Amino acid sequence: MSSEVLRMSNMFLRTLRDDPSDADVDSAKLLIRAGYIRKVGPGLYSWLPLGLKVLRKIETIIREEMVKTGAQEVEFPALLPKDPYEATNRWEEYGDNIFRVKDRHDADYLLVPTAEEMFTLMVKDMYSSYKDLPVTLWQMKSKFRDEFRPRAGMIRGREFVMKDAYSFDMSEEDLKKSYKIQRDAYERIFQRLGVKYVMVHAVSGPMGGSESEEFLAPLPIGEDTFALAPSGTAWNVEALTTVKPEDVDYSATEAMIALPTPESATIESLVTTSNELYPRKDGRAWQASDTLKNLMIAVMHPTGERELVAIGVPGDRQVDMKRLEASFAPAEIEEANEEDLKKFPELVKGYIGFGVLGPQSGKDENGKSRIKYLLDAHIARGSEWITGADEADKHVYHAVYGRDFEADGFVEAVEVQTGDMSPDGSGPLSLERGVEIGQVFQLGLKYSKALNLTVLNENGKAVPVWMGCYGIGVSRVMSCIAEYYNDENGLKWPAAVAPAQVHVIATGRDQAAFDAAEDLVAALSEAGVDVIFDDRSKVSPGIKFKDSELLGMPLIAVAGRDTVNNGTIEIRHRDGAETQIVSVTDAAQAIIDEVKKF
Ligand code: ATP
Ligand code: MG
Repeated sequence: MSSEVLRMSNMFLRTLRDDPSDADVDSAKLLIRAGYIRKVGPGLYSWLPLGLKVLRKIETIIREEMVKTGAQEVEFPALLPKDPYEATNRWEEYGDNIFRVKDRHDADYLLVPTAEEMFTLMVKDMYSSYKDLPVTLWQMKSKFRDEFRPRAGMIRGREFVMKDAYSFDMSEEDLKKSYKIQRDAYERIFQRLGVKYVMVHAVSGPMGGSESEEFLAPLPIGEDTFALAPSGTAWNVEALTTVKPEDVDYSATEAMIALPTPESATIESLVTTSNELYPRKDGRAWQASDTLKNLMIAVMHPTGERELVAIGVPGDRQVDMKRLEASFAPAEIEEANEEDLKKFPELVKGYIGFGVLGPQSGKDENGKSRIKYLLDAHIARGSEWITGADEADKHVYHAVYGRDFEADGFVEAVEVQTGDMSPDGSGPLSLERGVEIGQVFQLGLKYSKALNLTVLNENGKAVPVWMGCYGIGVSRVMSCIAEYYNDENGLKWPAAVAPAQVHVIATGRDQAAFDAAEDLVAALSEAGVDVIFDDRSKVSPGIKFKDSELLGMPLIAVAGRDTVNNGTIEIRHRDGAETQIVSVTDAAQAIIDEVKKF
């Protein structure tokens, strides 16, 4: 079947010479300049013919791979009733992130942000027996999120195309099988699309129970940080567990002593004071890493209880509130405020020490520590610290964890740093940035329990269904591909997603060049090669060449003066590789041969 030929003489396209002023990353600038998309509002884009071609090619690759997994395509409305989202509490949890709509009868609706609820209810509606399972359903559908900061073109949009799939199984074991099938499909999809990706552990095993991995496109413009081990394994920093440090031998450590430290409420001033007043005997200077700071946080439990907790962290490390919060999920946390602190007069701001925390603080009526004390996971048993003495202007020195004080447990509290040991022990971690292009998630029973999706098992007993969900940011992937494949002259699409494989240019005043190009285009189209044909008259060769580089097809073929004079056509690869000069008669075959190599 002959392919479609896009003729520049009538294609709905206007390329721009300059970058749009409000585009913040290369992909957004180029996609707009090259006439693939247009911005209509913050995080909102219209698709132009060329952009739709790329989007459809990406969707086709995803669809082909979804079909291979045995998943079946369905589609829900974008406008959804509130009730299912209330049943799972997400109407609340999403907060300002969802677009809420009221109908004329004052009933609440939302624009779909993601659709676990709808898929769960659809299966509940239609299936009732173990004989019906397993099943995996999916849709390719725009999603809506009122992102706080839409940015980077379609990388963080407020309306965006997402592929979302959901698996339904009888057991956790079966769920793991469905999960693996989808995860393998994701690898094939991203490989076919030519987008780089790193698979990142997104939920720490023991904490979350269920498994989840994110597919991140490593890009400096990304908003996600992941930690990469020399072994190639990677973790989202929130999912990373610190390797338990070895115990330290403290048999030679001096006895603990409390000493005056005037005006030393900050780590910096404490280090200075310590070096001035109490220099170490071994000649090395005191450092921030010798100090233990105790941060007070408020833990807000889902029950409504607000609990004050102390976190002990090495003075040279910053607390990462997101990591810390992940350790307390589903509770949320914030720094303790004056109100919280007032309830415990024994806390002396700037000089809080273990003396009033944890096992040392005495027990409450439930037999628990009066103030729970958790140590950052880097703190080794037997390690020595300078820390608050619970009196203004006083600190204790040579305090040994395990000798002079105890805690109620450990927590992941500090920012992961380059050089920290990898959880798998393969060496120091490096920190990289990336854009999340997909995520696979073992949901377990969360949604089936909330929405009461059960089926009868072999013994006729109603049991909840095990679910997984699997998302790909389709429009975001397109932007990431554009982000990887470009240069200062424009886009450089990989053949798998390019709007056309070849951009044929006819130049000059001589009709013969246009005729030769016309014949070439016909032959290519006949052979099923997608072609963009620059058949515009009265447009200079310079502009045509510039446009071909900006639009970014993988091959560019030029018919011009040489065609008329020598009977040749020039074929170039957009990525800068070799140029071929071939005779007019051989040109179509030469291009077809190149296309076959893609
Ligand atoms: P992020 O952390 O980037 O906000 P998310 O984890 O909230 O993403 P998911 O709910 O996992 O997103 O959605 C599935 C996929 O949809 C993501 O992996 C991502 O590729 C894509 N996606 C999410 N939000 C957006 C957005 N605002 N614009 C474009 N794509 C998005
Ligand atoms: Mg995600």
